[in-house]
Amino acid sequence: MSDDPRRQVPRTDTLLADPELADASARLGRELVKAAVQDVQQRIRDGALAPVDAVPAVLSALPTTASSLRPVFNATGVLVHTNLGRSPLSPAAVEAVAAAGGTTDVELDLATGRRGPRGAAALAALQAAVPAAEAALVVNNCAAALALVATALGGELVVARGELVEIGDGFRIPELLEATGARLREVGTTNRVTLDDYLRALGPDTGAVVKVHPSNFVVRGFTRAVPVAELAAGLTGRGVPLVADVGSGLLRPHPVLPDEPDLQTTLADGADLVLASGDKLLGGPQAGLVLGRADLVQRLRRHPLYRALRVDKTTLAALEATLRGPQPPVQQMLGADVADLRSRAEALAARLAAAGLDAVAVDSEARVGGGGAPEHPLPSAAVSLPAAFAGPLRAGRPPVVGYLAGDRTLLDLRSLPPSDDGTLAAAVLEVARRWT
Ligand SMILES: *Cc1c(COP(=O)(O)O)cnc(C)c1O
Repeated sequence: MSDDPRRQVPRTDTLLADPELADASARLGRELVKAAVQDVQQRIRDGALAPVDAVPAVLSALPTTASSLRPVFNATGVLVHTNLGRSPLSPAAVEAVAAAGGTTDVELDLATGRRGPRGAAALAALQAAVPAAEAALVVNNCAAALALVATALGGELVVARGELVEIGDGFRIPELLEATGARLREVGTTNRVTLDDYLRALGPDTGAVVKVHPSNFVVRGFTRAVPVAELAAGLTGRGVPLVADVGSGLLRPHPVLPDEPDLQTTLADGADLVLASGDKLLGGPQAGLVLGRADLVQRLRRHPLYRALRVDKTTLAALEATLRGPQPPVQQMLGADVADLRSRAEALAARLAAAGLDAVAVDSEARVGGGGAPEHPLPSAAVSLPAAFAGPLRAGRPPVVGYLAGDRTLLDLRSLPPSDDGTLAAAVLEVARRWT
């Protein structure tokens, strides 16, 4: 009778009462642990697991947190990878998120006990980082910032035809603007637009002139765009605000990306409002940053739609820590020296080769990603492995995402912090071990 595997399956209650599993239940929730227990019971019934191994098997099947989102090693060489959550937060920002995750003074002045301005410290940090801005506002993302601008300034929006771009995954800026009820007044042609084109399009219904940085493509050849400074000068005295969507969120000009517009310069050049994402080159949380003229920012803040687009306390905390704290990972990756990347690749490849793997260090090209600087490859270095490694590495613990180049899997090191190299080597060796 004791040969019947069903008789030997430990009972659910017994397993859940095990001290280690009870701890896990307290941390992760009973349902998650119970589901893992039921999987393990089934494996015992199937004869795939010995009953005495039930508790360790449940423990190893449990996720690290109650969320199924897992940390992934980004070895794609794309610094801001939208499918991988864009910019990784700095440790300072992660700490700030954890602290603000509980009850926090996001909208209370502790000195007076009265209600205070929401997220005032994050806004002050933004203004300190971009001195040309009179005021700042934070919304859910840059698309939300565009939607708010189009709704609140509305009427007719004058936009160059060559800047009516699709950002990615079917997200088209003109469709977003029109979805708010604003009308688009397209000026110029696909490849050329002049100041006069803009000025002739202005009329009594014009709500704003909108300039969109075509982040993810370039037009070459017989082309002409109107720089912000020229457009701002031409609009002087017309009473029409100039709104510039710069996308990438660089605060100031960056030596590595000379063609990427930045918030400070765009405002100093005369834009009335600038819009950007928080989770691209700024290296912070998903957010839409709006900076510029105080009266316009106030109009956006007072608009009823703002309430539907505002950010939560954890975003405000992460943003402030990104701006005031140590340099976030994306900026470190952008500034990384290629010689350092090469020596990391060589050290890693040597370690893997010593274990018998077909691994070599190669030169590679990294990208900014997230629709930024499409024409600007960043010199980088990678560990090259046989192509067959790609899938198992993605399925590993931790998952490692590289990319395929011909018959090789490349693991680019510019998109990975150096502190992850040891774990990366261990993950590759683990994949190789499971094969042999
Ligand atoms: C990325 C980008 C957006 C969209 O930003 P989200 O923060 O993802 O909403 C809008 N405009 C430009 C120019 C961009 O590069």
